Amino acid sequence: MIKVGVFGASGRVGKLIIDDLKSTEGMELSAVYVRRELDFAIDPSVLVTSDLDSLLNASDVIIDFSLPEACEKLLEAALQNPKPLVIGTTGLNTHQLNLLKEASQKMPVLYATNMSLGVALLNKLVYQASQALADFDIEIVEMHHRHKKDAPSGTALTLAESAAKGRELNLDDVRISGRDGNIGERTKDEIAVMALRGGDIVGRHTVGFYNDGEFIELNHTATSRNTFSKGAIRAAAWLVQQKEGLYSISDCLGL
Ligand code: NAD
Repeated sequence: MIKVGVFGASGRVGKLIIDDLKSTEGMELSAVYVRRELDFAIDPSVLVTSDLDSLLNASDVIIDFSLPEACEKLLEAALQNPKPLVIGTTGLNTHQLNLLKEASQKMPVLYATNMSLGVALLNKLVYQASQALADFDIEIVEMHHRHKKDAPSGTALTLAESAAKGRELNLDDVRISGRDGNIGERTKDEIAVMALRGGDIVGRHTVGFYNDGEFIELNHTATSRNTFSKGAIRAAAWLVQQKEGLYSISDCLGL
């Protein structure tokens, strides 16, 4: 039995992971981290703790869907007490990403801004389209629910990276995050990544390739957060068998 610890257990995705683990063969929930007390019922055999070392010690693998500052604390604790880590938290800053890379030298770490199979494939398609459609303008739009804290979404940024890579561009040099006022014409290489927020939208990403006379739009819509929770559980089952290193969801899916 693979023992899974959940960090961010009371969140939208965390709660689904706890639920989905109940019907996952060969895996069980061993521990959840809470800051205060848990606000929902849980099997009494599960360790409920506000101590990161206890969470790490009780688990074969940790799944994290929290917030960047919280993920940073988890990474710092894991550097002292290594354990396979599936990180789904988005909006990590440069320091937090560096911590994640440092951790991956000591333990297997899978970092994915989107755990769904569809988006993993979309990234491949975007890379190919960006290469093949060299003259087309690339624009990305993402839509999420009103509670989402980071913008643009981690998924949109990863898609933008795939697009930039297809053209051998550095995303930091070409990314635009808004247009307003008399800003002049679009430049050839720029890639806009625009974020819309509202209602209960789980996640919608459109990568458009626009040219004179035609355009292609590649779209992915998540209709349920279970695509993320189930994807993260699948990633955890795969990660416990890997040696230290930094992995992507494509590695796990063999894409
Ligand atoms: P949420 O706000 O519902 O849950 C956040 C969780 O983090 C809560 O359990 C909260 O208690 C916990 N938390 C907050 N601050 C903490 C701290 N200081 N210490 C410990 N725990 C803390 O958010 P959500 O919608 O479940 O999303 C969580 C993260 O996952 C976000 O970054 C979101 O963008 C990301 N996300 C990733 C994917 C993916 O596939 N990779 C999919 C959906 C969401």
